[in-house]
Amino acid sequence: MPKKIKVKTPLVEMDGDEMTRVMWKMIKDKLLLPYLDMNIDYYDLHVKHRDDTDDKVTVDAARAIMKYGVGIKCATITPNEDRVREYALKKAWKSPNGTIRALLDGTVFRKPILVNNIKPAVAAWKKPITIGRHAYGDVYSNTEFAVPSAGKLELVFTPRDGGKPVTVPVFDFPGKGIAQVNHNLEQSILSFARACFTYALSEKIDLWFSTKDTISKIYDAGFREIFQQEFAQNWQDKFKAAGIEYFFTLIDDAVARIMKTEGGLLWALKNYDGDVLSDMIASANGSLAMMTSVLVSPNGWFEYEAAHGTVQKHYYKHLKGEETSSNSMALLFAWTGGLRKRGEIDVTPDVVKFADMLEAAALSTVEEGIMTGDLLALAEKKATNKKVNTEGFIDAIAVNLQKRL
Ligand code: NAP
Ligand code: MG
Repeated sequence: MPKKIKVKTPLVEMDGDEMTRVMWKMIKDKLLLPYLDMNIDYYDLHVKHRDDTDDKVTVDAARAIMKYGVGIKCATITPNEDRVREYALKKAWKSPNGTIRALLDGTVFRKPILVNNIKPAVAAWKKPITIGRHAYGDVYSNTEFAVPSAGKLELVFTPRDGGKPVTVPVFDFPGKGIAQVNHNLEQSILSFARACFTYALSEKIDLWFSTKDTISKIYDAGFREIFQQEFAQNWQDKFKAAGIEYFFTLIDDAVARIMKTEGGLLWALKNYDGDVLSDMIASANGSLAMMTSVLVSPNGWFEYEAAHGTVQKHYYKHLKGEETSSNSMALLFAWTGGLRKRGEIDVTPDVVKFADMLEAAALSTVEEGIMTGDLLALAEKKATNKKVNTEGFIDAIAVNLQKRL
């Protein structure tokens, strides 16, 4: 066996729950530890351990990402009433992803994993389209009002420093109706913009940003202005040097164009637009198990994970001793994404090369027709296609990896 590749700086590893915890261990044991000499800063985010530590372990993990710069996270249960009972928890702890995101002030980017035997629903798409969704404001933190009768609706702003209140007329209602007030924060939009520029530069892909600024001349236009200013001040030269572009266009124009592009870009979207369009992109690409996710902080910290959850149903089958065919692709790409970033920051090309090779081995496994049940349903029908179980898939990737080393 050749010498193991050294990963210089500690990697922050966050273990998780259920089926993804099972796959996580298989990936480490079969695809990583035999080849890499890693110094791991390990945090066990298993729901029971979060409970035992009063969720302190989640905060510690986020702090470790701030210290070292790169974290890799398994999927975790966000407890609800059922989970509190199932695991006898002290309470329904907050979503770990929410806690980590709040501490890192990050934006989540979701990118599909493409293979040549699964065609996206849009024929033009050849490269991944990554979505960057702002995680604050819009309808998710709005104020709504059921207008009961004819009457005048006004907004009143009262400055905290004791200045004179400002009244803005909204509408003179002729009868019953409904109203909605959205807000956003300059600092939050700026962090979002910085995370998007950071991600696009890190991936060396164009950045599209779209709002409806022609109609929404303060709210949407405010987003556009903040992006434009931030770009001009801090990113224009870097983008030019990397040969990539920042491009703003109206959201309806962007939706029309996205259908004709070959992909390979980051599409930044406001909270609501991102909610809707990320589901469209995900579904057009086939499977949740083929979607990776990275949290990028405006401070340059990165946290990689799969976009899917803990695959609870498969885990219950696994516990009963039944065979499962769960897809570990997105979890594996969380590891390779984190390792590649670690290697780039540490300037250790061997680590970057290993991440590339492992991804190539995983992609070619599926392209050769060896796949889990979720993909078999989507892939081009071929007599040589073969469904494998959870472990069989990882073993097949290991064989492919061996051939490349
Ligand atoms: P899920 O884990 O995303 O799974 C939903 C369904 O999608 C599965 O039942 C399965 O469909 C399919 N699927 C997802 N990942 C797959 C994979 N790797 N391989 C094959 N099929 C896959 O969502 P959930 O079961 O509704 O949620 C379970 C737990 O995950 C919840 O407690 C939730 O809090 C948590 N969660 C965590 C995160 C995170 O940590 N980032 C995100 C979302 C949810 P079939 O059953 O049809 O095969
Ligand atoms: Mg949605």
